[in-house]
Amino acid sequence: MHKNEVIDEIIAISHYIYLKNLVPGKSGNVSVRFKDDGTQKVAITRSGISKINVGKEDVIIIGTDGNVLEGNKKPSSETFLHLSIYKNRDDINGIVHGHPPYTTGFSMSDKPLKRLEGFDEIKNPFIPYVKYSPPGSDELANDTAEMMKKEDVVILKNHGLVAAGFNLEEAALLAEFIENVAKTQFISHTLNSSD
Ligand SMILES: [Zn+2]
Repeated sequence: MHKNEVIDEIIAISHYIYLKNLVPGKSGNVSVRFKDDGTQKVAITRSGISKINVGKEDVIIIGTDGNVLEGNKKPSSETFLHLSIYKNRDDINGIVHGHPPYTTGFSMSDKPLKRLEGFDEIKNPFIPYVKYSPPGSDELANDTAEMMKKEDVVILKNHGLVAAGFNLEEAALLAEFIENVAKTQFISHTLNSSD
């Protein structure tokens, strides 16, 4: 994929996930790994912007070690988390991190979120939780990347979710799907516990 196509995809998906309420306020970030002149690079949203407002100048091109190659704004505070996931997974080229309300509600409870239909392969009956570390920390990045060696989606305890895919659209649709799984389970818990 050419760099300009990558940037256009990041803009389109940023707007999509905002409208789906996966990244409320200025939260959340997305990235794409791509090849440019034979070199692996990552395009990622900048920090401190609502995803509905992401335009060309808000997509920062970085090297796989995190150094900024193009763009004069600060890349997302979760940049190291994205890079750490890519490092372990050759099959992943797009990542979405968000704070959708139902999934994040589960992350703040002791209720496990069950997997429902829609997965190619059931690896685990529950979506795993990554133990809490502060947002943007190396611990959070390392723990998430370790768990995502075998998982395409994880829940960050007391924080939100991270979804990955072969491309960014796949990652976004997985995040959207998981938020709907969480909503469905919340509704079923509520209906089953009321009289
Ligand atoms: Zn976050």
